[in-house]
Amino acid sequence: MREFYLYNTLSRKKELFEPLHAGMVGLYVCGPTVYGDAHLGHARPGITYDVLVRLLKHIGYKVRYVRNITDVGHLENDSDNGEDKIARKARLEQLEPMEVVQYYTLRYHEAMRMLNTLPPNIEPRASGHIIEQISLVKSILDKGFAYESNGSVYFDVEAYSKKYHYGQLSGRSLEDLQANTRVLEGQSDKRSQFDFALWKKAAPEHIMHWPSPWSEGFPGWHAECSAMSAKYLGESFDIHGGGMDLLFPHHECELAQNTASRGNGGVRYWMHNNMITINGQKMGKSLGNFITLEELFTGSHKILVQAYTPMTIRFFILQAHYRSTLDFSNEALQAAEKGLKRLILAGKDAAKLKVAEGSAPVEGLAALKEGIYSALCDDLNTPIAIAHLFDAVRIVNTAKEKQTSVTKEDKDTLMLLFDGIAGDVLGLIDEQASSGAGDVLTGIVEMILDVRKDAKTKKDFETSDKIRERLNSLGVQIKDTKEGTEWNLN
Ligand code: ZN
Repeated sequence: MREFYLYNTLSRKKELFEPLHAGMVGLYVCGPTVYGDAHLGHARPGITYDVLVRLLKHIGYKVRYVRNITDVGHLENDSDNGEDKIARKARLEQLEPMEVVQYYTLRYHEAMRMLNTLPPNIEPRASGHIIEQISLVKSILDKGFAYESNGSVYFDVEAYSKKYHYGQLSGRSLEDLQANTRVLEGQSDKRSQFDFALWKKAAPEHIMHWPSPWSEGFPGWHAECSAMSAKYLGESFDIHGGGMDLLFPHHECELAQNTASRGNGGVRYWMHNNMITINGQKMGKSLGNFITLEELFTGSHKILVQAYTPMTIRFFILQAHYRSTLDFSNEALQAAEKGLKRLILAGKDAAKLKVAEGSAPVEGLAALKEGIYSALCDDLNTPIAIAHLFDAVRIVNTAKEKQTSVTKEDKDTLMLLFDGIAGDVLGLIDEQASSGAGDVLTGIVEMILDVRKDAKTKKDFETSDKIRERLNSLGVQIKDTKEGTEWNLN
């Protein structure tokens, strides 16, 4: 098996990936809080962890991929005092909270399917694991790292800090936190401001609540991920992923809960994808640049000059390393759209290259393949891998232009790069072929384009123009380029 290096947020360095159980990887990723439509902020983790799973499988691992759905306990502003995000939406729309959850979970799944991400193996919901969360809270209380106050239970950060390092994951110290935390206004049941809720007593107007030893209430937001990751992956597992915005407080608190209840953090590698900006600005509802994935796919948001296909979004996201910030703009997306088309077209052309014994081997192809694997196995360096894939695009285009044949070995390598790497690992597929009429339509259009090419070669421009006009009238736009004829269905 190839060596795979992964940047570990906890150690702040790249480490050789060594799973706890040979050949098996346990991966837990924090999924969405389902109270609104999937947006750009969901696309990046969705795609990043999808490529991680695909790559690990490609190099020979079995992967158990767990991604949760948060359907209770995530309060507004990630605080311990706001209204539950889902309950609030349910109140505003006069729905049952579980109707809100069901509706947005289905829409999230559909958006993830369109982005060609593989579904997780297990997708647990917080509300389905109240018993596990209560037992986690009990064990933290038993160990003396939590206290009960008016029916709620809080994690005791100060007591914990006497034995362990709170802030270890996000690189904070308790002193920094003490200096930088604003004083809470009004009444609080907490002993200290940085303590966080493990269990909250439900206010009378709170719709979702369960019985517990402390009160009729609901779990704190961070409890679900400690409880569910342990249930499905064991108390120690390999990789825990999520967006950088979850690093603090969510993951820091999760790590503290794990450590407080069982004496160790349990996660071998913590992995965080960086954030997306739009025209250089953070995405936010108040800034008017909050774009849902549906708006991107249909072009319906006012800052978009056109619609972008899910594959364009996927390709664009993979052109940046997951630990770098990524800026969305129309120009950048249009460039990605063009690049992706070239890549897909070259993949189709590679499949058509003729194999002949005694053909000259393509110089540097083996090194190219090696470069792509090393980039991907170097902390998922997709931009470098993609840059190398474009070297393969040039190889295919040259062979096609000069009508040269290739050796069987070179053809196999090229197909591995286009089908195996670009297609299976990066998940970049031909949307045209995979949508609607699919392969048959593609085959027919390409057959007609072949006839047109023959006509042009014979200088029968009347026929070639007629074909173009008929195709146009059927909504098939064609464009002659140096690399051949491209076509698009409108
Ligand atoms: Zn989580």
